[in-house]
Amino acid sequence: MNAPAPLSFHAVRSWIGGAPVAGGADVIPVIDPASGDTVGELFEADAAEVDAAVQAARRAFDDGPWPRLPVPERQRILRAIADAIDANTEELARLETLHTGMPISQIKGMHIPRAALNFRFFAEYVGQMAGTSHTDVPGVITYVTRQPIGVAALVAPWNVPLGLGMMKTAAALAFGCTVVLKPSEMTPLTFPIVARLMRKAGLPDGAFNLVNGRGHVTGKALTEHPGIDCISFTGGTETGRAIGMAAAKAIKPATMELGGKSANIVFADADLDKAVEGSLLAAFAGNGQQCLAGSRILLQREIADAFTERFVARVKALKIGHPMAPDTFLGPIQNAGHMGRILSFVERAKADGCEILTGGGRAPGFATGNYIEPILARAPDNGRIICQEEIFGPFATLMTFDTGEDAVRMANDSAFGLVGYVWSQDISKALSTAQALQTGVVWVNTPMTRELRAPFGGWKESGVGREGGASCAALYTQEKTVTIRL
Ligand code: NAD
Repeated sequence: MNAPAPLSFHAVRSWIGGAPVAGGADVIPVIDPASGDTVGELFEADAAEVDAAVQAARRAFDDGPWPRLPVPERQRILRAIADAIDANTEELARLETLHTGMPISQIKGMHIPRAALNFRFFAEYVGQMAGTSHTDVPGVITYVTRQPIGVAALVAPWNVPLGLGMMKTAAALAFGCTVVLKPSEMTPLTFPIVARLMRKAGLPDGAFNLVNGRGHVTGKALTEHPGIDCISFTGGTETGRAIGMAAAKAIKPATMELGGKSANIVFADADLDKAVEGSLLAAFAGNGQQCLAGSRILLQREIADAFTERFVARVKALKIGHPMAPDTFLGPIQNAGHMGRILSFVERAKADGCEILTGGGRAPGFATGNYIEPILARAPDNGRIICQEEIFGPFATLMTFDTGEDAVRMANDSAFGLVGYVWSQDISKALSTAQALQTGVVWVNTPMTRELRAPFGGWKESGVGREGGASCAALYTQEKTVTIRL
């Protein structure tokens, strides 16, 4: 497909106290990964602008109506935001595709509906919350309530910008917090639109504030600001380490959703058709740029050859194309630097004794853009660099195991612990494997089924804390115990 006509040039500014602001001194280009063209510019928020955003959120929390609204009224506004996102799906999906390079079918089918669903889900959730009471100590009754913690600092990555940014925003707002959100500087285009939609839906000014800019400038100023009360971060492990240290120093609660190197274990008794298709999605959906990618595919020896033959054919057949084309499965890598890093692992893998089964270079037929062929490698064991480092792209590695114990040992031999995938038709084998995996989430015979009611997050270097219904309540509210003499 020919590239569609360029969308209008976008100027991305901060949104503070219910209005866009003039914008900081430094201007950062926003690049379309399919063409390399500059499609927008971002006026970077410096420390003073971040301070203005935090002050606006502070006022809205300390004196404004949002935390004091009756829950049904809060719910009504959250549902109206969800409806507004749905009603603007076309525009939001085009922009999200433009700056991420993710296929529009996935953006429209999953990411934008998910952004809206977050508001509906948390609206319902807060309507069902209840405190507890205790009467065990004679002569007194004790009750426990939850109250919103205050100003939430939210920092989001570039791979699922709106879906993840709005998950944090919806949860924080639903529990009565006010928000300062910093999206990735590489994917900021949809957020000013959503800010306007929220205001139109009735969200009071100052409840949602947006600051844009690079991590070491805007992100650092936000996460180290004394006026915030908690931090929710999704991004890389090294960034999480820095933000976690700032949070610890300030004694502020923080959740960290970080990187992954998830194992996808296929037992010999798996339904092979479903395992092949599911593993393909787990490794390559979202251009493989997913924290939860099942990028280490562990195959039981009996089916390793049959699986490999079919899997290589399926990977070779994945449709690489312009992200706006409806039949594209793999679009361009989000930025050129990241593409170079992904491709660098091809030579490093070979030097490390691994075999490249398919892919490994720029995709032919594209005059511009960060298009690469999906890469499938085979590693002799789990100690190789491509089995240990998060590559965060369309790069998966096959390995072979003999027993379930071997598979679990290999899967757990990782600094990360985000997700585990298990494919088996033997229920006790699947469940005992799920039990043994050192990960925060396990998907059995299904790729990537996100349950918002349940906690999502990682063990080990994949994170601290969880997101989801009760987990978000734990971050965005504080408990208070009141004891009364009868
Ligand atoms: P990143 O860590 O480079 O950036 C994430 C965000 O943090 C961006 O908004 C960035 O500007 C900001 N940032 C960077 N340095 C900062 C600093 N010093 N202080 C404050 N903010 C700072 O990550 P990325 O490249 O945008 O995203 C990819 C990473 O995110 C991968 O490692 C991926 O696994 C991870 N991720 C995790 C999850 C999860 O749920 N566990 C989900 C999506 C992505």
